[in-house]
Amino acid sequence: METFKKIELLSQAARYDVCLSSCLDGGRRPDPKDPLYRWIYPAVLPNGKTVPILKILMDNSCPNSCVYCLHRRGGDCPTISFRPEELASVFMGLVRSNFVHGLFLSSGLGSGVKEMMERMIKTSELIRERYKFPGYIHLKVLPGADYSYVERATELANRVSINLEAPNKERLKKIAPQKDFDQLLTPMGWIRSLISQRKTKARSQTTQFVVGASDESDREILQTTAWLYKHFRLGRAYFSAFQPIPNTPLEDHPPTPLIREHRLYQADWLLRQYGFRLSEIVFGPDGNLSQRYDPKMTWALTHPERFPIEVNTASYEELLRVPGIGPISAKRIITARGRHRFHTLDELRRTRVVLKRAVRFILINGRWMLSE
Ligand code: SF4
Repeated sequence: METFKKIELLSQAARYDVCLSSCLDGGRRPDPKDPLYRWIYPAVLPNGKTVPILKILMDNSCPNSCVYCLHRRGGDCPTISFRPEELASVFMGLVRSNFVHGLFLSSGLGSGVKEMMERMIKTSELIRERYKFPGYIHLKVLPGADYSYVERATELANRVSINLEAPNKERLKKIAPQKDFDQLLTPMGWIRSLISQRKTKARSQTTQFVVGASDESDREILQTTAWLYKHFRLGRAYFSAFQPIPNTPLEDHPPTPLIREHRLYQADWLLRQYGFRLSEIVFGPDGNLSQRYDPKMTWALTHPERFPIEVNTASYEELLRVPGIGPISAKRIITARGRHRFHTLDELRRTRVVLKRAVRFILINGRWMLSE
């Protein structure tokens, strides 16, 4: 098969792996009508910069039978595969033409975990050592990979990931019968130790959940996510709203609304950036986040005893709890307070507070400004 046809097919196949959700971070998804963006994705790097990356599978065949996956055993996809030299050379051609600045490499389990990990590692070695590519590489660690492959992956890649797909053992069994939740955690533990010893190029690991495929709740997903942040040095979690794929066992399962995915990202952001504890995230009786209000607004509306706060005297932490005030605007308010008191909404607007959201929760110089 002609190489660019392979790129197109294996790249489209990789879109179901949402460590592409880097695309979501910037609020952008690849435009399926744009032939280029069928295989190039915007990725947010660990340093916050967004760059175009080639996101691709080494091989799209798999002996497993995960019920949501197009490449499951017995699926009707023709098998396509890259050799390491071929993929490394194609990737470098795209880098030289300035189409991509990084690589996200994953794979089906093809002819076995060992062989597929070897091919992925070999590809990365060629890119790093023969072609001297210094840029971003994200390597997926396949379930069941030996320690030596995991160790080498962390030496070559800027980021490594293992997809948990579901938040616990029981949920995972429902959608991925050959995967064992505890066995997926083992290499995550290795990665945590390797990163802690600072012997690695990789500075963080990530994981992904397929949201809605196992009928799990948001609470289950966020419980596991918070636990991973605490115990596995997880850089971040990605949430991919399940979308049914024709000719898979879940083809009639309802798709997960994108707003659910969005709310999970917002709650995750509260855990990582706003100092919220999991116990402070508000879930409905069904264990899910509100789809009507974002998680910070939901928390504020259910804690009337904490508001209003006076912007001229509130601590940084108190300001951060106000919907419409983020870390940047909270810092700006505190800096500005060193020069003057706030008296008007206009003065506060200059700190980039989203007044529409914040105004009901604050006092400015003792006055509640909701009617102004
Ligand atoms: S392990 Fe599961 S999700 Fe991954 S390629 Fe195989 S069938 Fe698909």
